[in-house]
Amino acid sequence: MSSVYIKTYGCQMNERDSEQVARDLVAHGYTIASHEKEADVILLNTCSVREMAESKAIGKMGFLKKDRRAKPQLVLGYLGCMAQRLGGTLAEKTPHVDLIVGTQKFHRVADYVTEAIKRREELLRAQEEDEFKALALSARPPLVDVGIEEGSQNTIRDHLLVEKKSTEFISIMQGCNMHCTFCIVPTTRGPERSRPINEIVQEAKQLVEHGVKEVTLLGQIVNLYGRHEMPKVDGKSPFVQLLEALHAVHGLERIRFTSPHPMGFRKDLVECIGRLPKVMEHVHLPLQSGSDRILKAMHRPYTVAAYRKLVHDLRSARPEIAITTDIIVGFPGETEEDYLASRRLAEELQFDGAFIFRYSPRGNTPAATMENQLPEEIKEIRNKDLLDVVNTSASKKLEACVGTLQEVLCEGPSRNDPTRLAGRTRTNKIVIFEGGQRFHREIFEVRITRATSSTLYGDPAITIS
Ligand code: SF4
Repeated sequence: MSSVYIKTYGCQMNERDSEQVARDLVAHGYTIASHEKEADVILLNTCSVREMAESKAIGKMGFLKKDRRAKPQLVLGYLGCMAQRLGGTLAEKTPHVDLIVGTQKFHRVADYVTEAIKRREELLRAQEEDEFKALALSARPPLVDVGIEEGSQNTIRDHLLVEKKSTEFISIMQGCNMHCTFCIVPTTRGPERSRPINEIVQEAKQLVEHGVKEVTLLGQIVNLYGRHEMPKVDGKSPFVQLLEALHAVHGLERIRFTSPHPMGFRKDLVECIGRLPKVMEHVHLPLQSGSDRILKAMHRPYTVAAYRKLVHDLRSARPEIAITTDIIVGFPGETEEDYLASRRLAEELQFDGAFIFRYSPRGNTPAATMENQLPEEIKEIRNKDLLDVVNTSASKKLEACVGTLQEVLCEGPSRNDPTRLAGRTRTNKIVIFEGGQRFHREIFEVRITRATSSTLYGDPAITIS
C-alpha cells in the first residue's frame, strides 16, 4: 500500500487536522512516511493567515514537481485553509497538483487520495499505450472539494495513537463569527460550530486509556465554545461546563486551551480557572493592540481598560498564572502614538511571552483595503522594538523560576538534544533535564537550575520508581 507524507503549515489546529487525516489514511491501509522522499503521496496542509505561509506552500508544491520526474507515480495535494480559500484556482499556479481539499472535508481525504492514485496510474498506463488518451487524461483538472459540510466539526475526533504521547490536542469547535478586519479565518474555516460535550469527554477518556495525561482544547475562539448550540447552566457558559466535565475525567491530569478571545472571558471562566486545579496556569490571551482606536478598527470588541482588568482578574484568581499574547504592529492607520500605547501596555502587563506580528494584508479582508497602509520599514522597526520589550519580560519570568521546584510533565526527548528530556511546567514553560525512559509521560518536580531566554534547565527532584 502507498505511503503518505503530510507536511503541516500553521497553527495547532492544522497539526490536529493533519493527525486526523493521517489516522484516516492508516485506517484505509496507507502508511505514514516520516520523510517526503519515502512517500508515494505528499499532502501539504496549508495555512492562510499570512501571505508568507501561502507563498511557502505554493513554492513547496513547485519544488515537488521536480520530484515527480524521478517518481512519476507521485501524487500531490493541497489540504486545509489555503485550499479552502483558493480552491481550483490553485491549479492555475501549480497545474501538476492532483487534489485540493478544504477545511470541512478532511474526513474525505483518504477517499480522494485513493481516487488520485488511480487517476495517476491510469495516466501513466496511457502514456505507454495511447498518446492521445494520455493527452486527454493529463488535461483533467485536479480533484477539488472545498464545499461546506454540516457537522464537519464532529469529524476531527480520532487520534493516531501509534506513538505513546503524554499530551494531545482535542479540537472542540471549528470556525469563527468574530470577523476581525485583518483575519481570513472566518472565510477559510466558516462559522462557529461546536462539538457536543459528551463526545469531547469520550475522546479525552480514550486518550487517557492510552496514557495521555494532558489535553489542549483547540478552537479559533475556544472560550466561546458551544454558545450557539448549548444554553448556560447555573450561570456557567458551555465552555465552563466542558472544563468541569473534563476535570472529572479520572486519569486526566492537565487541561489547557487555546486561543480564547478576551470578549468571551467572563466571570464564570475566571472563577473556574481559579477553582479547577487541573486547568493549567497559562492563558494565551490575544491583545492585538494597546490602542482603543486601533482595536475598534480591527473590530476587536473590547477596550484596553477591559483587557487590563481581565489580566488583573486572572492574576488575582490564580496568582502564579502565566499570560502570553499576540500583538499586531503596523495595522493600517497605526500612528506612532498608537504603537507606543501597545508598547506601554506590554511593559505594564509584563507578559510571559508574546507573538509579535507585522500586519500583512490578506485578500478579501476589510483591513486590506483600508487607507493608510504602513510601509514595511515602519512595521519592521516597531516589530523589533516590541519584541525587545516582550522578550525582556519573558526572560524575567524564566529567570524567576531559577531555584524553584516546578511540576513538569515529561513529553519525551528534547527536539534540539535528543540525549536529554523535555517537558512543560504548569505555566507552559519548556524545561530540559537529564533522565531515562522511566521519566517519559510522568509528572514530577524538577528543580530549576538555570534559564536561557526561552528555556529552563533543571534536575528532577524526585526519583520515579
Ligand atoms: S477572533 Fe478574530 S483573529 Fe481570531 S479567528 Fe476569529 S476573526 Fe480571526
